[in-house]
Amino acid sequence: MTGPAPRIREGESFADLHLHTRYSDGTYSPKELVGSAVANRLAAISLTDHDTVEGCEETAALCAAAGIEFITGTELTAEHGGTELHILGYHIDTSSPALLSAMGRFQTARQERIKEMVSRLNEMDIPLTTDAVMSLANCRSPGRPHVGLALVRAGICASVDEAFDRFLKKHRPAWVPKMLLSAVDAISLIHAAGGVAVIAHPGLNRIDSSISSLVEAGLDGIECLHSKHTPVMTDRYGALARRLGLLITGGSDCHGFIKGTPLMGTIKLPYHYVTSLGEKAASLAQKSSPLTEIQH
Ligand code: AMP
Ligand code: ZN
Ligand code: FE
Ligand code: FE
Repeated sequence: MTGPAPRIREGESFADLHLHTRYSDGTYSPKELVGSAVANRLAAISLTDHDTVEGCEETAALCAAAGIEFITGTELTAEHGGTELHILGYHIDTSSPALLSAMGRFQTARQERIKEMVSRLNEMDIPLTTDAVMSLANCRSPGRPHVGLALVRAGICASVDEAFDRFLKKHRPAWVPKMLLSAVDAISLIHAAGGVAVIAHPGLNRIDSSISSLVEAGLDGIECLHSKHTPVMTDRYGALARRLGLLITGGSDCHGFIKGTPLMGTIKLPYHYVTSLGEKAASLAQKSSPLTEIQH
């Protein structure tokens, strides 16, 4: 069962399962996001804002009106063996108390981190204020791209990319480490919320050696298709997912206009992977149902 991931079945529709809105560091509102999904003729989308599920309800309603299937989602920031990685949660119950309380803690830590980044910039005589960043972010889950955008708006950097290169990238002067959940706990949290746990863009995080231990911790899938994966990475992770019996997912990781041209439409996940994802969510729900335990 190894070999490259099958691409497209005849007559098949497509999905994008990795998207951000203004509820984290994207520039699209849910309405603009769904408008773009319609323009790209997508059959299904998931909203995977960083450490929040706030935009899901609004996006679900807009998708229902537009005839697009909506899958609840989030992208949790985590670490494994000292390396940052991102875990996508799909089909999660967005009212799960455990999930919401963990997210509340991450959001507070993100807000504190913004203050710390601004104070480091101030120490370099860069006159940015926390209020300027927070009012621009206008969300509970602010991140480095908001600081980057504020630096652009203040005329200090020409682009968000330049802001990352000069100040915000790891080990640059305004970089502040993030509160990171262990990847094992992130997977448990997603499962506790009835969801399916998928490792995001593994090609960008150098975490290949961790995948087998994440599978032991319950990882359900690999995001093989991603806008920053090369075709070689896509095929390699597709083969790995098949070998390990994991789901294959994919998405553009579109953040709207924050980093230039929106990426929606650059990744087209064949719909049968969406079907498999839904089947997995249903089987996990059945396994955790007390009724099933009694029947056994
Ligand atoms: P944070 O969660 O605050 O650490 O910010 C992560 C976000 O910053 C992600 O959406 C990344 O796509 C974006 N990002 C990370 N590195 C860079 C970079 N070098 N240039 C532009 N954006 C970046
Ligand atoms: Zn982001
Ligand atoms: Fe990510
Ligand atoms: Fe993302």
